[in-house]
Order: sequence, then C-alpha cells, then structure tokens
Amino acid sequence: MDLLSRLREGIVLCAEGYVFELERRGYIQAPEFIPEAVLDNPDAVKQLHKDFAFAGSDVMVALTYYSDRKNLSLINRQDQLEQFNRQALKIAKSVALDNNLLLAGNIGDTHIYNPNNHNETSNLIRSIYTEQAKIAKEEGANFIIAETLDYLGEALVALEVIKSMDMRAVITFGSHFGKIGTSDGYTFPNACKILEANGADVVGLNCVMGPQTMLPVLRQIRETIKGYMAALPVPYNTTDHEHSFMGLKRRDGKPAFPANMDSLLLDRGDMADFAIEAKNAGVNYLGICCGSGPHHVRAMAEALGRQVPGSRYSPLPYRLQNKAV
Ligand SMILES: [Zn+2]
Repeated sequence: MDLLSRLREGIVLCAEGYVFELERRGYIQAPEFIPEAVLDNPDAVKQLHKDFAFAGSDVMVALTYYSDRKNLSLINRQDQLEQFNRQALKIAKSVALDNNLLLAGNIGDTHIYNPNNHNETSNLIRSIYTEQAKIAKEEGANFIIAETLDYLGEALVALEVIKSMDMRAVITFGSHFGKIGTSDGYTFPNACKILEANGADVVGLNCVMGPQTMLPVLRQIRETIKGYMAALPVPYNTTDHEHSFMGLKRRDGKPAFPANMDSLLLDRGDMADFAIEAKNAGVNYLGICCGSGPHHVRAMAEALGRQVPGSRYSPLPYRLQNKAV
C-alpha cells in the first residue's frame, strides 16, 4: 500500500488537528502546542488516532508536529527528541496497522527561515528536518507531510530532505502573516507549481484558512498545477476581511485564538458541504486541520459517499418525540 496508488483510486481523506484537539481535551498546552502528550499521556494520543480512524480517515498522521529540536527547546525537552518522534510514530503505526490505513510522518514550520539569510537558515532547518524525517522513515511511514509552511524557501528545504530519503512528499502551505500567499512573495499557485516541478507528490494548503476562504485559492492552484492537490482547512468561518482563524474574535471583541474558539466552530454539515465543493474543485488529498473533531471527519467521509466504521452511529433524520397521530 502506498500513497500514490491510493490517490489513483480516489480522494485520500486525512484527519489532522491533533495538537488542537489534544489541547481541547487537556493534554497539550496552548499557545506553544508542543505535543508533550506523546510521552506524558500516550493513551490520549492513541485514543485520538482511534477516533479519527473510526471516523473514516485514510491516514494516521504521527504526532511529531512541533516535536523538532527548536520547538522542544522552548520547553527544555530537546534531549527527548528521539523519544518524542519515535513514540509518536509507533502510536500512529499501531492504529494504522489495525485499520489498514496509511502512516504519515510529519514535519512543520520552524519559524527559523529568513529569506535574507537563506543559506544559514536553510542549513539549520535542513538539519532539524533531517533528524525528524529519518525517524519517520525508520519507523515505516508511507510518506512524509511537511505542513503549515509560510515560505517557499522553507518548503523547498523540506521537500529536498524528504526526497533525499526516497520518500513521498505532501507539502502544504499555511498563511500566517496577514496575506494569502507565501511570506517570501510567491502566490500559492506559483509556489505549488515550483514544488511540483521539484518533485513534490502532493501540493496545496492546510490550516489557517476556513473552507470558504480556501476554496477560491484551491481553484487557482488547480488551474496551475498538473498533479495531486491537498486541501485541509480549519473548521472556522474565516472571511475576506479576516482570512486566518488566528485573527477571529470572540463576542466581546477579544481574540478567540487559541483557546476560546468553540463558539466559532463550523458544524459537520459545513464540512460535509466543503468535502463536495473540494471534490468538485479537483482536490485529491482532502482533510481538516486545527479545530477538527471526529464528527467532522465522519461527515466528510460520508459526503464522499463512504460508509466508515463510525457510520454505525451516524445521526438518523430528526423526528419529533410527540408527533401527531
Ligand atoms: Zn492546523
């Protein structure tokens, strides 16, 4: 089983948002979102994998996002890098094997890349990505996701590292700094085209934008690239005025991100609608990022016409208790 043969069969559905959901469940601390639960509460991590598998995800993404040397050093746990990464892969792998799902390694934005100091920062990022990707390969990942990237420069380093290990690469951009495009000045369609030309197997967008903000950009990317496209929005209603979920406000006008987002969450019907719209826009690798819950994932799977293990308990049409006789 491999990623490309699954993509040839049809859409690959990928549940993400592990750090956000584990924060909500009380096992990870915001705003750093470093996945300490992998070592401190591994059962909680495994249960979330099982929840997403039951809901119909085709991919188990090992929770190694932000388990890189730079981010672990923020909480003074950099000496446990190998344990964090290896254990995350083993947990995800056990659920992937039990359910015949794909296993993905995962690297993410480092907040180190500086286009004005390209060589030095690229070298540092290359060493950070290499130590994580090496473990993912050793533990049997089918492919590696590099995600939430702001810079094409950083994305190209991630791609180079993944390809140097002869692995399949899914590379997706976030858009954190107030504009829809990379922080080194490329439109997302052009940045995706360059990644594709350099050997990325799947390119696209994840996190930051909600479905309706992401869709028009996806249509532009589809017109620009030839191969497989990824889309994993956040389940929040971002707008033309505020394209990032991190900029959304509570009722009292205060910032909602990162821990007061609940009332802004889209429902499963919204995400089911997105699954159809994304399919029609030519998305091949479809998912959901921060804020996701298993109910969203199951609704997206069912919108694609699938019956998943959790469909056994999907809601029946609502009926009034005291209906007229
Ligand atoms: Zn996210």
